[in-house]
Parts: sequence; structure tokens; C-alpha cells
Amino acid sequence: MDGEDRVRPGKDRWQESYEAIRAYRQAQIEEIFDYARGSGCRMLRLVRHFGDTLDQRRCGHCDECLPGGTVGRTFRAPTKAERRTATDNEAGSLGK
Ligand SMILES: [Zn+2]
Repeated sequence: MDGEDRVRPGKDRWQESYEAIRAYRQAQIEEIFDYARGSGCRMLRLVRHFGDTLDQRRCGHCDECLPGGTVGRTFRAPTKAERRTATDNEAGSLGK
């Protein structure tokens, strides 16, 4: 693709660089999944990812260090209005 977004035939051996980019992107995606599924301090993992292997201190604030203090894992019962809206939406989507 050129600077004006025109697609032109590539040079010979384009597959090699294409496959290298694809493998790199796939490795990045796997790394993100590993981060999401992994255990241990999130901040410490990020710090290590960016090259600081000497810092061993847990942050004390992330969902792994302080599970009870995170918003992402906190749930509450729906309010009556929220429950009514959900019920209305469900009924609407079923064509009732
Ligand atoms: Zn942490």
C-alpha cells in the first residue's frame, strides 16, 4: 500500500516479513491474555514487562494485591429501576 492508500503488487519475498509481523502480533496478543489470566501483582508484571527486573515490591493496590478494594470485581444488586429496564429490554428483544 502506498502513501495514498493504493494497493500495488508487492515485491518478491513479501511473505517472510508479513509472517514475521503476524507472529509478533500474535505473541503480543498471547502476552495480553497471559497478563489477564495470570496471578500476582499487576503493577509488578507491568514493571517487569518494561524492563525493570530489580523492583520486587508489590503495589498493594491492584486486584491481586487488594482484591476487596478493586472496583472491577465489585458487584451490587440492581436497583428496581435497573431490574425493570433489563426486564423491559429482554421482553422487547424477544418480541413480546
Ligand atoms: Zn499489585
